[in-house]
Amino acid sequence: MSEFNEKPERLIVDGLRLDGRKFDELRPIKIEASVLKRADGSCYLEMGKNKVIAAVFGPREVHPRHLQDPSKAVVRYRYNMAPFSVEERKRPGPDRRSVEISKVSKEAFEAVIMKELFPRSAIDIFVEVLQADAGSRTACLNAASVALVDAGVPMKGMITSVAVGKADGHLVLDPMKEEDNFGEADMPFAFLIRNGKIESIALLQMDGRMTKEEVRQAIELAKKGALQIYQMQREAILRRYIEVGEEMDEITEGDEDA
Ligand code: ADP
Repeated sequence: MSEFNEKPERLIVDGLRLDGRKFDELRPIKIEASVLKRADGSCYLEMGKNKVIAAVFGPREVHPRHLQDPSKAVVRYRYNMAPFSVEERKRPGPDRRSVEISKVSKEAFEAVIMKELFPRSAIDIFVEVLQADAGSRTACLNAASVALVDAGVPMKGMITSVAVGKADGHLVLDPMKEEDNFGEADMPFAFLIRNGKIESIALLQMDGRMTKEEVRQAIELAKKGALQIYQMQREAILRRYIEVGEEMDEITEGDEDA
């Protein structure tokens, strides 16, 4: 049995979490845009031990055609866990959990994608979880958001996602596996952020128990975390544009030499 499956005696020791984080601290995050050649937009993202990849295709023709909407684009989102992404091999293919995550994630993106600009077309978002460690749906939402920008899909803002958990009676930002498994609550959020400001909540789920006051505090904690992630999403996109700019400079310089 792995250490993950055994309940630790305490989740908070001397005011710090088991991985040394403060209550309001995110796990380390790494984001890289445009990692796949065949997708219109893509992103690789790590959030702690979560490793996910997002690929966006579209706007493109809808297949099967009867799914076409003459007034707007259809948004499709598929969350999938690789069989090797969790401790015990996961059976490949969709299950109830992945269908539910795909549905709520799709609805979060429907709130931001300017679908009316692309009638009769489809915008397909695929997210693959390569390694999961709690909060994989939040990591996937963050990656998908960057991949959509990378694909040039017009959006009203960014979707940025983070969860708040409750461990040993304390609210904790971005819970990892032990806190998710053995904590008292888990509350994933996704926010619509425009020009650096949180405009609305696009996804909110919860399991476990929180008081009304804790819910209020959890929202504030999640907002604080989301604004930090938003900056990292922006930086990943900007880095990509700078790289493309440099590649273009090299090409033009080459032209001048010729
Ligand atoms: P999220 O990953 O968004 O937090 P859950 O709360 O449902 O979603 O899952 C928490 C964690 O439990 C996952 O990140 C993963 O590490 C683990 N997990 C989920 N599904 C499975 C599964 N079928 N087999 C083994 N572990 C799983």
